Amino acid sequence: RPRIGILGAGQLALMLAEAARPLGIDILCAGQPNDCASQVATVYKVDLEDRAEVRAFAENVDVLTLESENVDAAILEDLPKLAPNARAVRIAQDRLYEKDFLRSQGIDTAPYAAVSSLRDLRTALEWIGAPSILKTRRLGYDGRGQVRILHPDDAAAAWAHTGGAPCILEGMVAFDRELSLIAARSTTGEIAFYPLIHNEHREGILRVSVAPWLDAELQSLAESHLSKLLTALQYVGVLTVEFFAAGRTLIANEMAPRVHNSGHWTIEGSETSQFANHLRAIAGSELGLSLGATTSRPTVMLNCIGSMPSLEETAKFPELFRHDYGKAARPGRKVGHLTCFAEHKATIAEWERRLNDSETFV
Ligand code: ATP
Ligand code: MG
Ligand code: MG
Repeated sequence: RPRIGILGAGQLALMLAEAARPLGIDILCAGQPNDCASQVATVYKVDLEDRAEVRAFAENVDVLTLESENVDAAILEDLPKLAPNARAVRIAQDRLYEKDFLRSQGIDTAPYAAVSSLRDLRTALEWIGAPSILKTRRLGYDGRGQVRILHPDDAAAAWAHTGGAPCILEGMVAFDRELSLIAARSTTGEIAFYPLIHNEHREGILRVSVAPWLDAELQSLAESHLSKLLTALQYVGVLTVEFFAAGRTLIANEMAPRVHNSGHWTIEGSETSQFANHLRAIAGSELGLSLGATTSRPTVMLNCIGSMPSLEETAKFPELFRHDYGKAARPGRKVGHLTCFAEHKATIAEWERRLNDSETFV
């Protein structure tokens, strides 16, 4: 049986492992023994910041992939069997490289400037203006490592907030809505796209994803953007790009070189989930697999932030698909999600309300 190694053993690794089973693929994860993927896959204790340990882990697998863009690209450089490749990860893990790359491919972004001192920040504020957002170049997620600047006088406080780490200042985009596009590219260069997804964030954290977002013009614009990125990077695997939609334009926010939270609905809502297609893409040459169909049914995904609703309560709604990552409850943490086909409007409204309310108690 083919063996796929995943750097990381969190919920994305867990869902990749669940998708691997019916494909006859074995998953080995590199992480810590109690990480949540250990519920369904073998997890080896590997320090992802240790080059030798990562290399030793890679020896035991046919293909190596990752569940987070935050593995230091210097460790991935020259690592054989890695999909997506180290260059794609290096770009996606640093907001400055990422924005430069998006622009180089003719894709719009918010105005931005590199900031490595308070002086830089003041200069950047002169031309980007406020409101704007100061973001650490690396290691941010769920809105962590970023601070909004509402007035240029707040520069010093904002700079102190990021702790002196290299940052970018980004102009605030006045968007109509946030959309993401997920695509998979195989070793033979075949590309499959999912429909656009409409995402709602609060406090920088994704709360709700609804698919498909039906807009033929924006769908084809987003597809042409991702085609360019995938081809330029000679990318293999699933790539996600988050966009701000404003009028008829798409402004790229960030790219994730991996399966994405906004695509969890594809497990039930698509003929082939993002997880299955990532595996099919990266293991294609080993297994002779082509990408699977992305035909989808209208579906809604609700994130469970902080704590998981009780099994007893969700069980009263048979139309809900309950995904519990088995993580300890903690404020602001993604611990699971609920998926429901869009036709069950009352159930979705009820659970949006319940998840909102329960969060105030964590
Ligand atoms: P993720 O968990 O998606 O990786 P992140 O921590 O990398 O999040 P971003 O995606 O950069 O953070 O920002 C989180 C959210 O903050 C965005 O989805 C959007 O709602 C808001 N946001 C970020 N940048 C901007 C901007 N330039 N203009 C307007 N809103 C923004
Ligand atoms: Mg991000
Ligand atoms: Mg984001």
